[in-house]
Amino acid sequence: MGRPLPKWMRAHVARCCAAFGLDAPGYRLYITRQKRVNGDKDIAGYTYSAARYHRAHVRFRKQQPTDRYEVVTHELLHAALGRQGEAVDIIVAQLPKHQRALALETWHAANEAAITQVARALTPILQKEEPPRD
Ligand SMILES: [Zn+2]
Repeated sequence: MGRPLPKWMRAHVARCCAAFGLDAPGYRLYITRQKRVNGDKDIAGYTYSAARYHRAHVRFRKQQPTDRYEVVTHELLHAALGRQGEAVDIIVAQLPKHQRALALETWHAANEAAITQVARALTPILQKEEPPRD
């Protein structure tokens, strides 16, 4: 068991979970905070989603940038859209081997751009909401 999340983060995680359906019974969300995420000082957050097992692991860097609320929204969107990523993996596996790397790279770039855009739009709206009581 790690340290509890900072209050602002706990509240925003709760808002995002309620908005994105990540508070469903049986869904497990594991959140940890680290000095460096994946050994890279420039990464503010990283999400590993195992949608088929109804869980996701989110890592946040302890030192967050000024748009820290957007970082939380962004990572929890990755968790919420985990099934989409799994579907793409299945589709890409059907391609000839030499086409897979470009297909995945294209998907990841487009997915990042879409999540960034949606997180930027949703964050100010979510911030105004009361976090749900737990
Ligand atoms: Zn991302």
